Amino acid sequence: MTYEQAKVIYDETAFKGGVTFAPPHIWSEPLLVHDLDKHIETIKSGQNHISINSNGLLLNKDKAKMILDQGVDSFFISIDAFSTESYKLTRDSDEYELLLDNLHVFINLRNAGGYKTRIGVSFVSSESNRHEITSFRNYWSAYVDVIRINEEYSANSFNTFQNTKRQPCLSIFDNMVINHKGDVIFCCLDEAFQTNLGNVFNDGIESIWNGDLLSQLRNRHLNNSILEKDLCSGCDVWRLFMPYKTIHENGVTINYNDLIKFYNIYEKP
Ligand code: SF4
Repeated sequence: MTYEQAKVIYDETAFKGGVTFAPPHIWSEPLLVHDLDKHIETIKSGQNHISINSNGLLLNKDKAKMILDQGVDSFFISIDAFSTESYKLTRDSDEYELLLDNLHVFINLRNAGGYKTRIGVSFVSSESNRHEITSFRNYWSAYVDVIRINEEYSANSFNTFQNTKRQPCLSIFDNMVINHKGDVIFCCLDEAFQTNLGNVFNDGIESIWNGDLLSQLRNRHLNNSILEKDLCSGCDVWRLFMPYKTIHENGVTINYNDLIKFYNIYEKP
């Protein structure tokens, strides 16, 4: 999608004023997006917040400065490891040291410049890296503002499955996923584009958001009458979006549910 096409979307969401976070990417690496600076500037000018998740490998000094200067509200880097060995296993990359260098340059620039960008690191926990969670948390809590740790999702289930009754998935109530052609799928897990709720360039965002297809699916979630043909029927990810509980511990506010924890660090150790 070109910047000009994306701007049509940004303009409608800014005009409606109801969008909280607008990342200019779904599954792809955002630092590869052409004209990323223009995307960010336009999203911000529409009073929307912008949150970006990246693998951090292309986060050189110029890109780091651009992100800070443009006022990105939140920048998360997926690490999923605390050693070169685990990084190779979880992300199939030999660039762990490069990633650490990039991230520390970014953090130092942010701190020296007094920028407000919130920097986070994330860790998807699996068999191959679970033993590194404590070291990961201890190390990064000295540098970043938030640490996200969540369970790996594989084979239609979470490893630490908690047997709670199915709840409506919050994702379809507060997320809209628009692909590179402007087609709207109901969830980012529909990677094969099995669903199509409409096209934002032909139908407009508001009519799709309030349209019959999404309303019917939301009702099926609310009434616990999800159809077998719905992608949701075999999906456990609704558990990830369950409401968070909160506890405060030694300058850290922890928001969590069964599958995800956010450590918000207000006092560095
Ligand atoms: S239940 Fe799964 S497939 Fe359905 S909207 Fe939620 S995350 Fe997406």
